[in-house]
Amino acid sequence: MFSRPPKGIVINRKKQENRNRGFKDLRIGGSHEKKIWAALLLLTAAVNVTAWNSQAFCDWHVKHLFPLSVNAYGRLMSVFPFSVGEVLIVLAVVFTAAAILLGLARIFVRKGRGKLLISAFLRAYAWGFLAVFMIMTYNCFILYHASEFDETYMAQKAQRTYTDRELILVRNHIVSQLNELTRQLERDGDGFLVYEGDMKGEAIAAMQRLGGEYELLSGYYPQAKGITASDFLSQQYMMGYYFPFSMEANYNTSMYIVNVPATLCHELAHLKGFIYEDDANFIGFLACINSDDPFYRYSGYLSVLSYVEKEYKSASGKQAFDCLSIAESVYGDDIFLTKEAWEKVEENAVVETAVVKAASNQFTETTLVVNGVSDGMKSYGRVVQLLLEYYDGILYDCGPGYNGGAVLAEASAISSS
Ligand SMILES: [Zn+2]
Repeated sequence: MFSRPPKGIVINRKKQENRNRGFKDLRIGGSHEKKIWAALLLLTAAVNVTAWNSQAFCDWHVKHLFPLSVNAYGRLMSVFPFSVGEVLIVLAVVFTAAAILLGLARIFVRKGRGKLLISAFLRAYAWGFLAVFMIMTYNCFILYHASEFDETYMAQKAQRTYTDRELILVRNHIVSQLNELTRQLERDGDGFLVYEGDMKGEAIAAMQRLGGEYELLSGYYPQAKGITASDFLSQQYMMGYYFPFSMEANYNTSMYIVNVPATLCHELAHLKGFIYEDDANFIGFLACINSDDPFYRYSGYLSVLSYVEKEYKSASGKQAFDCLSIAESVYGDDIFLTKEAWEKVEENAVVETAVVKAASNQFTETTLVVNGVSDGMKSYGRVVQLLLEYYDGILYDCGPGYNGGAVLAEASAISSS
């Protein structure tokens, strides 16, 4: 007998076929997609392994590939008047939370449109995650294994060791510059500094001037952008951020204005491939002190004062030094936020500052250590070594024949024993 299936069943079968085709297409696409995803992940991991093992590869990257980031991507991001990086961070948090929730939901949603939608979202999230890993590798991770500033530009001096004698000369020079400059600057009725010039423009000009001497710092710079959540940044004791995923230099708009010039130049230094904090501190310092603008010079000297003072104080525990005292107004300016700004921050705080600061410190410490900076946040203070190298030949001469170091080391040993 010849029987035909009822019409309804035919339709259902067609529907089923269509559905199957749909699933099949998804499955085929899925497996290809997965292979491409996994291949890119492995490739990026391999690039990271290469970076950890070859400084030459990283130096080549900083010189030839990395500049494309700021010249193309950074230029594109500069079109937006707000910090794109800040928006991306918020989106990343929202999408990650959604991915976790939907990942859990998928255990219970086993079929139908819901399953398809969840799968599509999770696939998109996986691609987003890979994109972030690739961009971070290209714009950040590799940079941690490239030559540091002094290895590239002060190679001979980087080998030298300096003594308390040079430290005192550098410290006194910085203090004398600050004492001189503090009298020239404009202040408001409360004694706080005010600035009327083109802050962001001068940061770019100062960095480009430095580029005339240090080639890696030459070329295009985007304008730095203020962070909307600056009060939250203050709670982290952060003056600025370089966002590798948006190639932006961002800064804290709540902090005391004298910190802004050095911070802008510090963040712009990161955009040129100098990822180390001590390098960025030093480059920021150099850009500022070579500016024609006294406010910039003051900000530059002030940005390293606390690091130098810390070393100076531990050195002066060993023996008595001629001490140049720091002017009252310099002390007054060496603050992160004004009292008034702190009150505003505390008023609007959602989480206690101590908690935010501890979490932020832990995050920074972990980021640095994971990227091979074994001394973590202490690395910020290595700027003093760079200052000692820079002033070698300017304030003193510690050429290869110099033996003052040995004499001072003995003197230190005697006085401390
Ligand atoms: Zn930095």
